[in-house]
Amino acid sequence: MHDAIEWAGQSLKCDAAGCDHVEPVPEITADLIGTPCPKCGANLLTEEDHAAGLEIQAMVALINEAIGPVDVPDEVVRTATAVSFNPHKGSLTIKVGE
Ligand SMILES: [Zn+2]
Repeated sequence: MHDAIEWAGQSLKCDAAGCDHVEPVPEITADLIGTPCPKCGANLLTEEDHAAGLEIQAMVALINEAIGPVDVPDEVVRTATAVSFNPHKGSLTIKVGE
């Protein structure tokens, strides 16, 4: 059994223009607010973006609770299309297949 929406991994993505740095993290937590980008020095996680991320996590938890566990073979889960969510400055970018 699986959640309808499962987290494949979390990362901090640099939103500075021209920088493509992505920092994988075990979990996005408040202590990461203010982490500097190792490539350009920009803030990888603002308080505003962290708060938006928490709202996304709460929304996913609500959806999973409403749907309940789903009976999907592990192989299907492993090959499912990844969808990424990037909250930034009050907007949310959703990319499919990354
Ligand atoms: Zn950067």
